[in-house]
Amino acid sequence: MDDNQLLRYSRHILLPQIGVQGQEALIRSHVLLVGAGGLGSPVALYLAASGVGNLTICDGDKVDLTNLQRQIAHNTNRIGMPKTSSARKTLASINPEVNVIALNERMDERRLLELAANADVVVDASDNFPTRYAINRVCMIRKKPLVSGAVVRFDGQVAVFDLRHTQGPCYHCLFPANGEDQDMRCAVMGVFAPLVGIIGCVQAAETLKILLDIGQTLDGRLLLLDGLSMEWHTIKLNKDPACTVCVHETVTL
Ligand SMILES: [Zn+2]
Repeated sequence: MDDNQLLRYSRHILLPQIGVQGQEALIRSHVLLVGAGGLGSPVALYLAASGVGNLTICDGDKVDLTNLQRQIAHNTNRIGMPKTSSARKTLASINPEVNVIALNERMDERRLLELAANADVVVDASDNFPTRYAINRVCMIRKKPLVSGAVVRFDGQVAVFDLRHTQGPCYHCLFPANGEDQDMRCAVMGVFAPLVGIIGCVQAAETLKILLDIGQTLDGRLLLLDGLSMEWHTIKLNKDPACTVCVHETVTL
């Protein structure tokens, strides 16, 4: 690290759990972030500010006026611009040292499988179940840690599925697929703006912990937030013996 980096990251370096070595590990790391909306914005901002060296961000949407109530990586001047381009501009202004790969495309499983190969952690900040299931399957195949988050109305949830090992549950154990019935997109649901910030920041924290190999992550636990009472609950997740993704060797493309 040069002198500027030592200054930029000094408050991380002061933490004994991180130090120069941990910060250098962050600079070398690569995170795949799926979604540059409500959750993806705070995740991207904190990972970039923290010095995660390589950030691949995918999102097929353009910035819309209805996004600006909560998607803080974007602004009014960027309406109509691809969200990934807008996010890249914002991140560059915070930390020009981060290599941001902005992919303005809707992700399918095959594409995610390519992209996940080079990632140390995959962050699911998407807004629909088909993408969440695809990310889970891809992380299973590639054996990548998955940091999953979701927010609807006043409720938020975060979980980590560390699919580098096979003993733990996966996202599909928690939410067995039930077709499009479960597809509750933010596009049609209300979302209390700060909830995406809170949950996205938890996702960013868990991602950094995995990259640094410090503390205990939410692996195998589901953290639930009721934003109206501001009460948090943690539920221990069990592997579903009937799970078609992580139990049986049926994962094919
Ligand atoms: Zn499973």
